[in-house]
Amino acid sequence: MLDYLVRNACLHGENGLVDIAVKGGKIVEIAKAISTEAPSFDASGQLISCGFVESHLHLDKACILDRAKNETGTLAGAISAVANAKSGFTEDDIYRRGARVIEKAITEGTNAIRTHVEIDPGIGLAGFNAVKCLKEDYAWAMDIEICVFPQEGLFNYPGTEELLREALENGADLLGGCPYMDTDPNGQILRLFEMARQYDVDLDFHLDFDLDGSWRHLDEVARQSIAFGWQGRVMIGHVTKLSVLPKAELEDTIALMRDAGIGLTVLPATDLFLTGRDHEHSVPRGVAPAHKIAHHGVCCTIATNNVLNPFTPYGDCSLSRMANLYANVSQLSTQAELENCFAMIADAPAKLLGRSTKIAVGEAASFIILPAQSRAQVVSEISRPVWGMKDGRVTFEHPAAKLFRP
Ligand SMILES: [Zn+2]
Repeated sequence: MLDYLVRNACLHGENGLVDIAVKGGKIVEIAKAISTEAPSFDASGQLISCGFVESHLHLDKACILDRAKNETGTLAGAISAVANAKSGFTEDDIYRRGARVIEKAITEGTNAIRTHVEIDPGIGLAGFNAVKCLKEDYAWAMDIEICVFPQEGLFNYPGTEELLREALENGADLLGGCPYMDTDPNGQILRLFEMARQYDVDLDFHLDFDLDGSWRHLDEVARQSIAFGWQGRVMIGHVTKLSVLPKAELEDTIALMRDAGIGLTVLPATDLFLTGRDHEHSVPRGVAPAHKIAHHGVCCTIATNNVLNPFTPYGDCSLSRMANLYANVSQLSTQAELENCFAMIADAPAKLLGRSTKIAVGEAASFIILPAQSRAQVVSEISRPVWGMKDGRVTFEHPAAKLFRP
């Protein structure tokens, strides 16, 4: 006896429709016209896919536009607005705002998140403790990886390192960095690599978040990644400086990232909102060319970053919208280009978080149904998932829209 059956699903790269049988949280059979009395969902020829994966999302500072305003529209304006609002954050308040974001993300087809949590003596471990509770309470629909990081600097804010260590000893999954906020950026990079080695965790930096091509921290991160043997365990986010590099310099940088085993996350909503504010006209886009970098075998992902806060006063937690935004701003249109954008919200971040993306017998029954026939169509039409399952349990469903003709 099966637990559940998904009927008439379209598998990426396959001809014809299949039924997918689920038992004990796993896929136990994929075949045409499986007969069963078990409950079922008719995909009606729509695309089945692994869930989307957020590789970079701030749950602790989401949904705070009612109390934090970015007066200048710049990165500095966003950081100071959040720093001021943070003194009023409580565990309860962070939990409620984070839950709102997670519930939106579930219904947009996301089933895993790497969340960046701010740690410093001001906020203490309140954000970390709230996110730990969210991780436990939403495990039925969402796998959450917690990345703790010093948003307001490490060496310039005594007490921060001790708190980061406390979090790492109490369930944080990895360590983030923000060297541009530190009085000693290279010192922060070195200390974080030392801590990563001590706790055996991956690293994920906020890095090079402006359009000045004359200096950057990427070279130091690459140098330490090789020195510590941490290749394949380091991500960098934003890196908007990459968007201003001429072709030859970009090629050298891609080679550097590949040799150092460093991956890139672009956050198009935030990068577009904050960068280029000193331009009155011909405003640069400031989105790193992830598709060009991914083409050379570097792990590249697209993520939401912020929802309804001074860094990004928008947000629906839709990764298909984020992939579309990236494709639009990067002027991508071919089938292959759009499929690569899909991979940057599904396959690449899933691999980063150590997850399988296969729809195959023996794999976890964790997938979504998208109203499309191809991955490219999902990106071009911003397809909203209609139904999702995690580990054999249905997690959400959007009823189809109805037209009432005259
Ligand atoms: Zn971020």
